[in-house]
Amino acid sequence: MASMDAVFAAYKKRRAALEASSNPFANGVAWIAGELSPLAEARIPIVDQGFLHGDMCYDVPSVWDGKFFRLDDHITRFDASCAKLRLKLPVPREELKSILFDMVAKSGMRDAYVELIVTRGFKGVREAKPEEIVNNLYVILLPYVWLMDPDMQYNGGSAIVARTVRRTPPGAMDPTIKNLQWGDMVRGMYEARDRGASYPFLTDGDSNLTEGSGYNIVFVKNGAIYTPDRGVLHGITRKTVMEVARASGIDVHVEVVPVEMAYTCDEIFMCTTAGGVLPITVLDGQPVKDGKVGPITKTIWDGYWAIHDDAAYTTEVNYLAN
Ligand SMILES: *Cc1c(COP(=O)(O)O)cnc(C)c1O
Repeated sequence: MASMDAVFAAYKKRRAALEASSNPFANGVAWIAGELSPLAEARIPIVDQGFLHGDMCYDVPSVWDGKFFRLDDHITRFDASCAKLRLKLPVPREELKSILFDMVAKSGMRDAYVELIVTRGFKGVREAKPEEIVNNLYVILLPYVWLMDPDMQYNGGSAIVARTVRRTPPGAMDPTIKNLQWGDMVRGMYEARDRGASYPFLTDGDSNLTEGSGYNIVFVKNGAIYTPDRGVLHGITRKTVMEVARASGIDVHVEVVPVEMAYTCDEIFMCTTAGGVLPITVLDGQPVKDGKVGPITKTIWDGYWAIHDDAAYTTEVNYLAN
């Protein structure tokens, strides 16, 4: 089992080593058209439809302690996101993997946030024939990103149920495509800030919960966990949470979750590749139950980080190759 103290202490050591590194890629590196450059110098072509029409999708795997976590699951979802938008991964899966492993090794990052983007490319759907459209791949590698600071995870963060915006409905933009049409998310984040909180939970506009800006949401009630089935991305972290829960004998319900659940449940947490299992202890300015991180959240947190050492879920990066 992994405790917060042990996981964060080991991570902070690795992060300090990265910060002391003189590697030009240590702060971030981008892969564009086969060229690597330090992130701060990377530029996208302005005529890319990803920029002009938001015509793109993405995915975010991570590297933890020198190993990719569930990389095949991420690439499979990325492939599916592309297919749903009639995009195609511009390089074969194995080549994509070798680009990723090479970038991580060259950067020296032991813990990384890896963003893969496929855009429509330089020709738009309206003007070009389908066979003229060539999709573009971009890859960004950053030091591991925490949606919630490690120090905040001990006591949990504060969220709101957004009132001024709803989640984009599935009939407008299929949320099972990991996409960057973030108009709803950005409005939610501003509302959270206006109301003195950090994280928005968006509803479906029919009094059910969906998800937030880059994370799924999970509720604990009477010892079981509940997470919305519809209007959400099928998060890989959510999948891991469900597996850890079942292995710990905790019942898992993936179903319609009414907003009321947020106000009557025992525990709340968010889940995302950018930080893992993130406890929420204040909702709409009120404590969730006793306002402390609850026992089920802790069990899932421990289980989530414990399997980051498990060879069944991870693939090692060979740093010596560089
Ligand atoms: C990325 C993302 C999540 C979390 O998915 P993971 O695969 O767990 O990282 C949830 N919701 C949205 C909208 C996202 O973009």
